[in-house]
Amino acid sequence: MEGKKINVLKRILITALQLTWGLPQTVVGLIVFLYNIKEPHEWYRGSIRTVWRDKTHGVSMGLFIFTCKGGGPHMTEHEYGHCMQSLILGPLYLIVIGLPSVLWCNSRRAIQTRSVTGKNYYSFFTEKWAEKNSAWLRNREREKLS
Ligand SMILES: [Zn+2]
Repeated sequence: MEGKKINVLKRILITALQLTWGLPQTVVGLIVFLYNIKEPHEWYRGSIRTVWRDKTHGVSMGLFIFTCKGGGPHMTEHEYGHCMQSLILGPLYLIVIGLPSVLWCNSRRAIQTRSVTGKNYYSFFTEKWAEKNSAWLRNREREKLS
């Protein structure tokens, strides 16, 4: 019972932080959320997850996570890893994570670099950090269960 109360409080705190400290990316996320208002939504660890129409990409903007239908749990956990970056970086998130991520994912030069060198998408610092965050969270939950 105590654990559940703590979890609810943690999620409320996370939501409150995304609405204040992470406000710039939350505003961007709200616009994307409203554009996808008819798509399915759910609460996910104090964030709002939307399964959007995009078939391959996931995005995280403050309070909001957007994943594609076929993304599976890994995509959701990865995007939550970006949410954690938003909680850490606050107003710097869009500059430090958002912009480099968008360029790494979509720019012709980055796509060509990955293709020519065989570099893994998750080797880029923004993605590696998000992966580390989600792995940390998974390990923490596994420890709680054991
Ligand atoms: Zn990512």
